Amino acid sequence: QARRLEGIDKNIWVEFVKLAATYSTVNLGQGFPDFPPPDFLKEAFSRAVSGEKHTLHQYTRAFGHPPLVKILAQLFGKLLGRELDPMTNVMVTVGAYQALFCCFQAFIEEGDEVIIIEPFFDCYEPMVKMAGGTPVYIPLRPKAPKEGKLMSSADWQLDPAELASKFSEQTKAIVLNSPNNPLGKVFSRGELELIADLCVKHDALCISDEVYEWLVYDGKEHIRIASLPGMWDRTVIVGSAGKTFSITGWKVGWTVGPNRLLQHLRTVHQNSVYHCATAAQDAVAQGFQRELERYGKPDSYFVQLPRELQQKRDQLIQSLVAVGMKPIIPEGTYFLVADISEFKSEVPDVPDSDEPYDSRFAKWMVKNKGLAAIPLSAFYCGAHKDNYNSFIRFCFAKDATLKAADDILQRWK
Ligand code: PMP
Ligand code: GLN
Repeated sequence: QARRLEGIDKNIWVEFVKLAATYSTVNLGQGFPDFPPPDFLKEAFSRAVSGEKHTLHQYTRAFGHPPLVKILAQLFGKLLGRELDPMTNVMVTVGAYQALFCCFQAFIEEGDEVIIIEPFFDCYEPMVKMAGGTPVYIPLRPKAPKEGKLMSSADWQLDPAELASKFSEQTKAIVLNSPNNPLGKVFSRGELELIADLCVKHDALCISDEVYEWLVYDGKEHIRIASLPGMWDRTVIVGSAGKTFSITGWKVGWTVGPNRLLQHLRTVHQNSVYHCATAAQDAVAQGFQRELERYGKPDSYFVQLPRELQQKRDQLIQSLVAVGMKPIIPEGTYFLVADISEFKSEVPDVPDSDEPYDSRFAKWMVKNKGLAAIPLSAFYCGAHKDNYNSFIRFCFAKDATLKAADDILQRWK
């Protein structure tokens, strides 16, 4: 085994997907919708595979199928208010996972530090380590909500002085994930400015994971850090068609950024994956074409999906409140983190061990209640797993599954 693989053999998704399959549970664990993607996208995929253009069954351009990079350049050009070149400012990847992998491989040297905001999407840590870098963690710290109110993901905040103290000569990059998985926090302009100023001051890069960019609620706005002063030149935006169009199995993602950075992502990509599935890229391109024509209109999927998800969020909040789990209301994403500390007395047979309590609880719940959720400690580094160990994350991008989960929860009492 290569040294770079030391300590990264465990994976929360592999573990919980297996648990969910074994106990044939109601699965609010791994994040994917249980409802179909929009018809226009399914039709575009069918046309791509059974239409006249048999070239769509063959390789396309390594760094992105031309129709897809063109439409992405158009859309992100509009969102960022700058002219983008489809060939040099956009690169298509095998999901956001590969986009992230390319970033760390392209920029991180042995000894470089990468700042990661906890709780974080778990893959950042092993990817930084595989690239030879050292992750440096900074937590979002919860503030107590007003008396009698539920906590919001906005109550989880960075301490500005603590964040500043994490930047050093060794800092190569910070990973930003807004809207954040697992909390659903949507970083405010002030919070983004704080991060941006530190990046500029310390000449650090920003790897901005924005896979949930369209999933924001209650009229909140998703602000792109690349649009702040001094940031375009040092930011790589990472996106995912899986989250954007509810097609996580297609594994189409992208990066958007300045050529001075993307040229190095292309080097990693051409020498590893080389190319992503052509038909899926073609269908996603058609999906974006449709969305660009309907931008901001009521029949846009980017308008409809968050509206529907907000209702599902509120439905899950009700189910949880009714049984005494305390949800933290997410401002974005399709995840919700709930406080289970008041359940402790009701789960007498969670075996005691070194494992964080939330993890033992989640495993007990899968096995005994048939309900799958992900322990929050999975989104903390090894040393910090016990700092916030009484929360579990639910995915609410569900129809029938949400109802089935409610049945389990209400029967629990
Ligand atoms: N980043 C975050 C924050 C995620 O939640 C996920 C999981 N979808 C990914 C990246 C990976 O996305 P993809 O499925 O497109 O590889
Ligand atoms: N991003 C998804 C989540 O947070 C799933 C990631 C995975 O299955 N590897 O649930």
